[in-house]
Amino acid sequence: MEYVIIGNSVAAVAAVEAIRNHDGDGKILIISDEPYSAYSRPLITYALAGKISEDTIFYRDKSFYDKNKVKTILGVKATSLNTKEKYITLKDGDKIYFNKLLISTGGIPISPNIQGRDLHGVFTFTKFDDLKRIRKYIDQYRVGETVVVGGGLIGLKTVEALTMLKMKVSIIELADRILSATFDKKASSIIEQSLRKIGCEVITGNTVSKIKGRGRVSAVILKDGKKINCDMVIFAIGVTPNIDLVRNTDIKTNRGIIVDSHMQTNVPDIYAAGDVAEGLDLTAGVTRPIAIWPNAYRQGSIAGCNMAGITKEYTGGIVMNSIELCNLPTISMGLTDPKGDEYETIEYYNDEKQVYKKIVLKENNIVGAIFINNIDRAGIYRNLIIDKVDISSFKEHILKEDFGLISLPKEYRKHLVSGPGLEV
Ligand SMILES: Cc1cc2nc3c(=O)[nH]c(=O)nc-3n(C[C@H](O)[C@H](O)[C@H](O)COP(=O)(O)OP(=O)(O)OC[C@H]3O[C@@H](n4cnc5c(N)ncnc54)[C@H](O)[C@@H]3O)c2cc1C
Repeated sequence: MEYVIIGNSVAAVAAVEAIRNHDGDGKILIISDEPYSAYSRPLITYALAGKISEDTIFYRDKSFYDKNKVKTILGVKATSLNTKEKYITLKDGDKIYFNKLLISTGGIPISPNIQGRDLHGVFTFTKFDDLKRIRKYIDQYRVGETVVVGGGLIGLKTVEALTMLKMKVSIIELADRILSATFDKKASSIIEQSLRKIGCEVITGNTVSKIKGRGRVSAVILKDGKKINCDMVIFAIGVTPNIDLVRNTDIKTNRGIIVDSHMQTNVPDIYAAGDVAEGLDLTAGVTRPIAIWPNAYRQGSIAGCNMAGITKEYTGGIVMNSIELCNLPTISMGLTDPKGDEYETIEYYNDEKQVYKKIVLKENNIVGAIFINNIDRAGIYRNLIIDKVDISSFKEHILKEDFGLISLPKEYRKHLVSGPGLEV
């Protein structure tokens, strides 16, 4: 097989599209342990809430594979990799040889090893099968009360879905506030207030130390001894790069798989992209996994081009999340709460309208931003970050109501509208 891709999610789809742009005939094989066509992981919480129907999460159907002449082996795990003889072994023992390999195995949810972890009614929530299992459990046991462990974005999306199902939800977060990795204190507190308004109990600075129940969940015991009765527990305490396949190989890893700017690992012809790979975080100035959908697509696309012999470079990305939480549209990008004298912040807050905007600057370059309940022009701010534009000449306008393309220096405006375009 010319091209073998492990994983069938967004990085894989992007790689297929890039390969086919440059190589119409090379044989492509996708292997995934999930038995489904590519689907949108970010939409599974909305599907649980009933905001969208299950079939709309599939953003590529079977015809995508046929049209692109892609063979698939779905529902089968790749269990080992031989980098010298260039083959993959599948769970059923089959060997698949490759010329070029892309590892796009994404992330695996972290699940703490605590008492009661194996009880019926304890879940993580990152896959379509989790959605099906959780829905079945809710229906079967008429779940009324749930504890969600973890106050990050996936945890909050889960909380929102459960409250839409009229459940009583408690969220338990170890840090002293929810969303501490994404937002600053003010933004976290605006969202926390909104969560309380929809009836959610928010407990911070605490965690679940034990899950109780006979066969299935009946309560959790927190670190401080408090007991919360519940029918279901969902862990959303983070995702870690799924590097299992390369663990006993000569492929170098850190937290994720280490790649060069072509998304190639230290072993020639073996590439990695998406949540499993590390990449340059432009605002933090470090190399690390940037576990967001658009980044996985971009890395997959760059890997695909290079696999097909067309040189393309990944020059870095930024962590950016755009999510509606409790009916508040929110966006966070880059460094939202950095410490140190080298950072300057510009803020706007309207208590009545629950609008909060913040720009973080370092030497007059934007390195981060927060937008709550007014996300207009986010694409412009993102471009200013990526292009490292010195904003000193229009700094005082940066958060004004009328700030827009017209406020930007003429040359840069021209670059945005006639150059690579404005990414939103
Ligand atoms: C609930 C949830 C909500 C999210 N919301 C957002 C959001 O709003 N915005 C955003 O930008 N991002 C969001 N994300 C993150 C986003 O979904 C990921 O960044 C993206 O899916 C990463 O894509 P990927 O191609 O790297 O891998 P993944 O989507 O993780 O897919 C990897 C695939 O590889 C398969 N696989 C792994 N190992 C093997 C093996 N050994 N053999 C065969 N197959 C294997 C896995 O089963 C999986 O199907 C969310 C994630 C979750 C879980």
